[in-house]
Amino acid sequence: MTIEKQAQDFETMLDSAEKVTIISHFNPDGDAIGSAVGMREFLAAKGQDARIIMPSPEPAFLSFLDPDDTIIYFSENKELAKSIINDSDLIVCLDFNKPERTEWMSGTLISAKAEKVMIDHHLHPAGDIFSIVISDPEASSTCELLYRILMAFSYTEGDPYRLGLTVLTALAAGLLTDTNNFNNSVTPYTFTAAASMLQAGVDFDYLNNMLFKRFSESRMRLMGHLLKDSMILYPGLKASFMTMTMDDRTAYGIQDGDTEGFVNLPLMIHDVEISAFFSETPDFIKVSLRSKGHVSVNSLARKFFNGGGHERAAGGRLYIPISDVRGYFVESLEQFLLENGKI
Ligand code: 5GP
Ligand code: MN
Repeated sequence: MTIEKQAQDFETMLDSAEKVTIISHFNPDGDAIGSAVGMREFLAAKGQDARIIMPSPEPAFLSFLDPDDTIIYFSENKELAKSIINDSDLIVCLDFNKPERTEWMSGTLISAKAEKVMIDHHLHPAGDIFSIVISDPEASSTCELLYRILMAFSYTEGDPYRLGLTVLTALAAGLLTDTNNFNNSVTPYTFTAAASMLQAGVDFDYLNNMLFKRFSESRMRLMGHLLKDSMILYPGLKASFMTMTMDDRTAYGIQDGDTEGFVNLPLMIHDVEISAFFSETPDFIKVSLRSKGHVSVNSLARKFFNGGGHERAAGGRLYIPISDVRGYFVESLEQFLLENGKI
């Protein structure tokens, strides 16, 4: 079934729903927040209330997308969040491919009586609890996919002006962050969508400033420190390895979201095709993987790092001491590249 046809079924479902809840993944990024706010504001403009519940808060630089601070965080307001989810008749799940990506919210999501719709661009959607799964791994972002879906609604009639600036701006924000400002995962449709957004009045200069030019001094200094003192290159593997320890976090006063994008930096080096960034947290090691060649970091993350994602951008977790991470990474990558005939 085409996405446009699925969009019509989704529109029918939305039209008959009274209590719509919109959710996305743990540690929401620009695509998660942008798609959730875009969906909510679309419904609001039609006179339909919907609430957004996130498992955990977004980093501060994304809060401008929810200026009235209306998102409810499960981590902070568990009882309220649970009662809203349990009371919903439709739950729209954005930018994640399996319930576990909502962490501590997944039990509530799975057992909720509401109909559930998944709209996502990750590989391997686990769709068993969903009435409709609109999955397009070719889409640069969930925001791009949601734009395509909303444009196929009979309400919109293919006219981006019908969506309004608030919706378009939120969707453009997720499109920009997930593509790293049109640097990766773009298709002709990505630019078609962006051109329509621009034409309809979205201020891309403003979004660029809000999303990419408001970092803290401490983030810049930490970036310098990690590139100089932590990054290790493995030319035989065409790989870069970098870690951030709890001590780095404390020394630089790092907030959630401050390290966004660090993993992309080593890919600027000639001959580095895989970049791995590991950051120590109190509970686990957060893994970020990027590729600019033909290595699927999605497969790598699934096989060795308890995670997944996209072919060129993936993540996961390790439950080993930070001092063991380097050895584990090199061994895993060697084995993976050998098995896949890359070395
Ligand atoms: P990032 O490196 O920006 O945290 O994540 C990159 C991509 O990998 C995201 O699109 C996200 O969906 C995926 N990802 C990150 N962490 C995890 C994880 O723990 N599990 C899975 N399955 N995917 C992840
Ligand atoms: Mn996304």
